[in-house]
Amino acid sequence: RSPFLKINFDSVLAINDTFSITVAYHGKSVIDPSGFGGFYFEKGVAYNLGIGLSSIPHNYGRSWFPCFDNFVERSTYDFDIITKPEHVAYCTGIYLGVDTLTDNKKMYHYRMEKQIPTYLAGVTASNYKEINWDFQGMERNIPIQLLAQPQDTANVKTSFAYLPFAIEAMEYWYGPYQWSRVGYALTSNGAMEHPTNVAFNDFLGNDGNPEVTMGVMAHELAHHWWGDITTLTTAYDMWIKEGTAEYGRHLFMEYFFGKKTFIDVLKSNQLDVITTAHIRDDGYRALSGMPLDHTYGTTTYNKGAAVFHNLRTYLGDSLYRVGMQSILKKYAYSHLDADQFQAQLEESTGMDLSCFFDDWIFSPGFCAFEIDSLHTLKQNNEYLTNIYFEQKLHHAPHYYCNVPVEISFYKNDLSKIDTSVVLSGKFDSTKLSLPFKPDFWTINENEKLNCGQIGNKIFLKPNKSYTLKESKINFKTSELNQDSIFLYSEHIWGSPDTAKNDNPYINLKVSNSHFWNIAGILPENNDIKSSFFYNGSSDKELDYDLSHFSEDSIVVVYRKNSGMDWKLVENFKKQRFSPKDGKGTITITGLKAGQYA
Ligand SMILES: [Zn+2]
Repeated sequence: RSPFLKINFDSVLAINDTFSITVAYHGKSVIDPSGFGGFYFEKGVAYNLGIGLSSIPHNYGRSWFPCFDNFVERSTYDFDIITKPEHVAYCTGIYLGVDTLTDNKKMYHYRMEKQIPTYLAGVTASNYKEINWDFQGMERNIPIQLLAQPQDTANVKTSFAYLPFAIEAMEYWYGPYQWSRVGYALTSNGAMEHPTNVAFNDFLGNDGNPEVTMGVMAHELAHHWWGDITTLTTAYDMWIKEGTAEYGRHLFMEYFFGKKTFIDVLKSNQLDVITTAHIRDDGYRALSGMPLDHTYGTTTYNKGAAVFHNLRTYLGDSLYRVGMQSILKKYAYSHLDADQFQAQLEESTGMDLSCFFDDWIFSPGFCAFEIDSLHTLKQNNEYLTNIYFEQKLHHAPHYYCNVPVEISFYKNDLSKIDTSVVLSGKFDSTKLSLPFKPDFWTINENEKLNCGQIGNKIFLKPNKSYTLKESKINFKTSELNQDSIFLYSEHIWGSPDTAKNDNPYINLKVSNSHFWNIAGILPENNDIKSSFFYNGSSDKELDYDLSHFSEDSIVVVYRKNSGMDWKLVENFKKQRFSPKDGKGTITITGLKAGQYA
């Protein structure tokens, strides 16, 4: 059967003519082969999900009504939903009323007065009970409506306890809420951002623990700006709505839990992106131009979120709000692509974002920065500091430009100042005036950029073990001669400098993909044990270049700074996870500030 409806008109249509067509249809609705998308009758709830994850086009209005299934065509909707007498129907839009039919069935009427694409039209029907709140929004009172089956209402109320804070956070960043209500309906699958009536996974929504619910809750709420007001022109730019929605989750975490939790969330997301996105999405991919079989992948969602955070750092908080809100205004109830996104941001903020878009939106990969050398000169009460930087790349096609990089300069007493510099190209340098001569420094410790370096700031205490996932290193202390030792350990996804020509270890091949940097004041002759992980189990892992020819010969090398050459760390202990799998740890005793590879 043809998926197309052919309509023959009596006369030829002229441009700008308006016609009204009534299409009568019936049939059985379908579910997407992936299990996500289509129309469900499950666990006492009838509902739809407007996106079919494995169908092309992904837009899945056609699973329950005839339509143009894309992101561009829009219409208003009138819903007339017939239910059993004991059921209630809820749809996207405003409730108009209910009729009782002759057989005691009910017909519920809703109207979505704003123009939306087909994938955003939604219905849910069940023996739902309503939980209704009011929330005083930025401009007006916003009704909140949660829908759950009677046995779930108590848990659902607790599960969504943080929702008002999420609305506050989103209004702060993206402007006043524009829909008639904030609504979530519990369904057996989801989640899907049908405006005013989100289909929300019951296992996430009736757990009774708001910390289980809050992430997806905030993501779907953020869609009421990104996706529901402004969407993408084609699925090749899915980052426009999924990156923003996922970053909406991060913004909520920042708003509700504060900066420290926010930084942890960013780092954990970035670690996930840089270690798994290329495996799950079958390669390092640019956000824009994503192939349709990877539309809903880790790159789109999680790297998308990471890159919106970077955009915020490039612009600063205030211009980020200005730029993003101007897109929602100009493209309200409409769609745009990556080029239009860039043009509108530039027009509204006055910033040149060509480097940002070339580096983060149109290209795959990541950048990282190290300080090659730093010289200070005391002049009156200030310290003129020359800093030479080197940029490292991880699966990126070119060096990044105009990157705002935060450097934290520390004194031994741990007082510090954070400064931002803008760096371009493989080598760059800058001159700063500092109030003191720095004893050590860190780069990007506040995760201002989600990039190819992630670190952990810690105080080592005596007789303790530390597992630092983000910087891919473990520490174990015994007795220390002081209460605690401060250090910043950092893992860098980027090629360490190669060994120099006159190096006696020239037969050593230094990894071409990653290294570690340790900053801090470490006592001489400490016996801190540090375990470095290696993984060369496949060509998608960092140490494939070293371990695929011989795991036996993997060693750890060290240098104090970029001006020195690599030296073998003697006396290490190697532990293999299992023979020949290319994975293991190398443990060294005695930790020094500097680079390890
Ligand atoms: Zn989403």
